[in-house]
Amino acid sequence: MTDDPITTDVLVIGSGIAGLAAALAAAREGDDVTLATKATRPEGSSSWWAQGGIAVSRDTPEEFKEDIMAASDGTADPDAVDVLVENANGAVEDVLLDTLDIDFDHNGSDHDFTREAAHSEDRILHVDASTGKHIHVPFLNYIDDHDSVEILDDTAALELIRHEGRVHGAMLESDGAVDPYFAGSVVLATGGIGDLYPRTTNPDNTTGDGIGMAALAGADVEGMEYVQFHPTACVREGGERDGDVAFLVSEAVRGEGGLLRNGKGERFMPDYHADAELAPRDVVARAVKAEREATGEVTLDVSPLNFVEEFPDLADNCEEYGIDWTEGIPVAPAEHFLCGGISVDDRGRTTLDRLYAVGECSRTGVHGANRLASTSLLEGLVWGLRAGEDAAGAEPEPIEAPELLERDPDLPDRFARDKFQRLTRVMDENVGVERDPADLQRAMAVLRRLKGEVDAYVRTRTSRSLYELRHASVTALLIARHAAENEESVGTHNLVDASEEPPESTAD
Ligand SMILES: Cc1cc2nc3c(=O)[nH]c(=O)nc-3n(C[C@H](O)[C@H](O)[C@H](O)COP(=O)(O)OP(=O)(O)OC[C@H]3O[C@@H](n4cnc5c(N)ncnc54)[C@H](O)[C@@H]3O)c2cc1C
Repeated sequence: MTDDPITTDVLVIGSGIAGLAAALAAAREGDDVTLATKATRPEGSSSWWAQGGIAVSRDTPEEFKEDIMAASDGTADPDAVDVLVENANGAVEDVLLDTLDIDFDHNGSDHDFTREAAHSEDRILHVDASTGKHIHVPFLNYIDDHDSVEILDDTAALELIRHEGRVHGAMLESDGAVDPYFAGSVVLATGGIGDLYPRTTNPDNTTGDGIGMAALAGADVEGMEYVQFHPTACVREGGERDGDVAFLVSEAVRGEGGLLRNGKGERFMPDYHADAELAPRDVVARAVKAEREATGEVTLDVSPLNFVEEFPDLADNCEEYGIDWTEGIPVAPAEHFLCGGISVDDRGRTTLDRLYAVGECSRTGVHGANRLASTSLLEGLVWGLRAGEDAAGAEPEPIEAPELLERDPDLPDRFARDKFQRLTRVMDENVGVERDPADLQRAMAVLRRLKGEVDAYVRTRTSRSLYELRHASVTALLIARHAAENEESVGTHNLVDASEEPPESTAD
């Protein structure tokens, strides 16, 4: 090695709430932190897009725990849930209230706690219906101003540097140049997997990178079959991006009286579930999918409520996307959240030495097979703080970095675009809201071939989009494999037998 290696105490990858919390905690321990993010703007993280809010414990953590366990069909890990509910209030007070001074909505002198589906009490702190940006922007600014943290934006981690079960850093790409960054500890905080599906509520370029990198380095992953689909993503009509998600229509609209209607104008949810529009998210998602297939479209009729007054942000969104909400808002299910991910313990430690994972890319066990609304910002905050503190104090030890080969940006970019289309089609058709075991086997075969083609390219060329495709193909294959191996329909994992006549309704 001729040049001095680039070193840092803690390397955090990702600038959502989980990465920011990890950076804050490591810096508080006195470590120098480098935070690399491929985002170029705050909107590049799901954390910015969060709407409903962040849940805290009210009277007792026990009640909060019971709701999380129930929402997961009893599959959440009770010990992990204890960590979440017992640390929720301390983390929110410390970081969001005392450090960042976030002005959550008030009702008189107290906070205006709201309630969402499957919560048994009012416990959600929020700012309007756009809580994410009100937390994320001040948090990002605070970390950016911190003397011990350097933020590298538009910088993507391509591969972990690993030797004999220990992670020593990562290969970071910025503006086409790739350099090894060595660190005492690496914290993956790369968020979800939205881009693996044609319709998602996540920001662009959410390609499962952290999960792909960790799996390729040999870390354990769990629960990948548990992909949560949001039932009411507003879809664009016409134009080049016909059918793409324009924006998320929050559950609160159905909570306030919004009605789902099929292409014939008929209200259908009462045929699927006793709670009709307020049925669990996965039940509504399956019903919306079935009615779209049977009648061409589904719209959310907002005429029963005072839409503009109650949901001004959504009314603005409709105007921006040219949607006449008086005719109903066109909706479809869209990938929203991954409940599984990189296996971690109560400090975010993965199965590889000096590698941590936090936020949506991790599997703490809190969400089991299904997630309770407004618990993922909290999970990212709580585990981010715990992992950042634990990650601090290790010395970087530069070793030989992997050699990433000659770059030829044009060719792999085109290749990546074409293959990505194939990947999302396979995931949508076979590993979506409902899964048929035979389809899952077919999907695995296609995804294995696709991964083989990508691996062959990666051995000759290096570009960000090619590595994103590589991580997406590894992650997609893990989802399909875990789905094929799990024979029990539970939570977000719904098995059907497509060779049988489709049932009249998918109600529970
Ligand atoms: C529309 C919407 C509404 C939601 N509403 C709520 C809500 O009300 N309450 C709630 O609790 N949850 C909500 N969620 C879920 C929640 O927002 C996310 O689960 C959570 O913010 C994830 O945080 P994170 O820090 O793990 O990831 P993110 O916030 O997604 O951040 C991931 C970061 O990693 C970076 N990154 C990815 N790959 C790489 C790489 N290879 N190299 C460098 N950087 C990389 C990305 O650029 C990004 O900065 C919502 C999600 C969406 C999409």
